[in-house]
Amino acid sequence: MRFSKLFSKIKKDLSKDIDAINAKYLLQAGFVTQVMAGVYAYLPMGKRVINKISDIIRDEMNAVDSQEILMSALIPLENFKKTGRDTVDVAYFPTDQTVLGFSHEEEVTPLAKQYISSYKDLPLSVYQIQTKFRNEARAKSGVLRGREFIMKDMYSFHQSQEDLDVYYDKVKQAYMNVYNRCGLKAYAIEASGGIFTNNMSHEFMSQTPAGEDTMLFCEESGTAQNQEIAKAYLEDINTNEALRDIQYKEADRGLSVKEQSNFYGVQPWQILKTLVYVSQEGKYIGICIRGDLQVTQDKLDMVMEGLRPATDQELQEKDFVKGFISPLNTDLFDEVLLDISVDTVHNFITGNNKINQDILDVNIARDLAGYKKVDVFMAQEGMTCYTQKGKLMSIKGIEIGNIFKLGTKYSKSFDLTCSDNAGKLMSPIMGCYGIGVSRLMGAVVESSHDDHGIIWPRSVAPYHVHIVTLGNDQAVINEAEALYKELQKHRVEVLYDDRDQSAGKKLSEAGLIGIPLRLVISSRTIKEQSLEWKWRDQKDSQMVVLNEVVMMILNESWI
Ligand code: ATP
Ligand code: MG
Repeated sequence: MRFSKLFSKIKKDLSKDIDAINAKYLLQAGFVTQVMAGVYAYLPMGKRVINKISDIIRDEMNAVDSQEILMSALIPLENFKKTGRDTVDVAYFPTDQTVLGFSHEEEVTPLAKQYISSYKDLPLSVYQIQTKFRNEARAKSGVLRGREFIMKDMYSFHQSQEDLDVYYDKVKQAYMNVYNRCGLKAYAIEASGGIFTNNMSHEFMSQTPAGEDTMLFCEESGTAQNQEIAKAYLEDINTNEALRDIQYKEADRGLSVKEQSNFYGVQPWQILKTLVYVSQEGKYIGICIRGDLQVTQDKLDMVMEGLRPATDQELQEKDFVKGFISPLNTDLFDEVLLDISVDTVHNFITGNNKINQDILDVNIARDLAGYKKVDVFMAQEGMTCYTQKGKLMSIKGIEIGNIFKLGTKYSKSFDLTCSDNAGKLMSPIMGCYGIGVSRLMGAVVESSHDDHGIIWPRSVAPYHVHIVTLGNDQAVINEAEALYKELQKHRVEVLYDDRDQSAGKKLSEAGLIGIPLRLVISSRTIKEQSLEWKWRDQKDSQMVVLNEVVMMILNESWI
């Protein structure tokens, strides 16, 4: 490709506020352009990157025996009524009868129903690479979170849970291969299934400061967890202290844990904090946790679905005394759950459900025996990994893929059944697997760049070689033209900067675009019958004799 003919141009100044590196460099270098908030068009070099990522994904999905299809983006609303997803926040409804696909379970399941009639048709796996539409509340960070984005979504159908389990693990490995081949370091994290399912799921995360998720990573054990559901090991704090007898105390103090611990001159962990939640049935559930820790909603959801914190009004109506709530001496709770953190402390301080009344030296094993223990505390950086091998480190990341075991939710919603090997009707067990293709492009830029611009890994670079001429010397132009043609003849992917521009501009733009190999030809190099050969990800360059250049390039591996 001749730079002078390239449709997109380099933009020096970006008018919009840019909130992420991928947005800055991809817009500046003309890989994408913004159509409106969260909506991008892909320009020639951006499309080439998307194509390369897509081809890597195709290769890996084909290798797990999935078949590529292309479903419609417009889906009948009726289908979503069957699964109860007809009112989800993220969906766009172009008419009152249609939904723009935000995910395709509602299309693929009736589709599979047309062709699956017996267990002999299973397992089946199909995938597509397609634009998805989601009305994201906050489109941000360039192509990382768009309202329209490219996704590879794959769906599998199985005759048994074991068959799905085996396939799921294969796909998990295929996903890691995709990220590896795209030059991305990815962490596979066990996650909760969110609104989709209670079954197992994995998220694949890539590290970036623009990420919206916090991962807790342990170098020693190699485990990575999403902070929302992470487990950690809590060391005993003062369990060598003898149990003291309960005391009741007047306490004219503030309502927060901090004010309570300050009042007694103790650390926040010495406080037994009790939070009031309301269940879907309207029951009042108390959750006791160490005062220095927080409850995470995602872990709580796994213990009891649908719990939400009680409102101030509900607390008042029920006669809970805010700041002095305690599980002792009260029948206000329908149930009390104890977070496992309470086992690490002796002689807690807590309220006594009356204004300015506290109870001191509360001991769980003695005073709250028999209550159910749950693990709902939020793990934090610096805590010990649940494997007890090392400390947790916190990393900001972005989700670049997600795989789920769906069970039979969708096959049942659409009455997809087939006969099993005994002739009995069964509902196929499904899995679904998504990769954000356009987000992956952004994630690669986030993880591979410097102050000058993008550093494309070879496998997804828009071109492999970037020829740059400096000056207008005819001999320079002749050599560059000859090299360009020769490389094209060998099907080398090359961008040839043939523009009549200053050396400074051409070199800085080459740095911004980030093609792996830069070849500079100038009158100075021509004198030595050579050119300057420089890898984008290395500091130093070398002089290479002109007639060896093509051979050297052909000897490189570009995948
Ligand atoms: P997130 O938690 O980031 O909102 P999600 O869990 O809603 O993502 P999935 O439904 O699991 O997303 O979609 C599969 C993949 O599609 C995600 O792993 C991500 O890589 C990509 N993706 C999801 N939403 C967007 C978006 N708004 N813009 C770009 N890519 C996205
Ligand atoms: Mg997800």
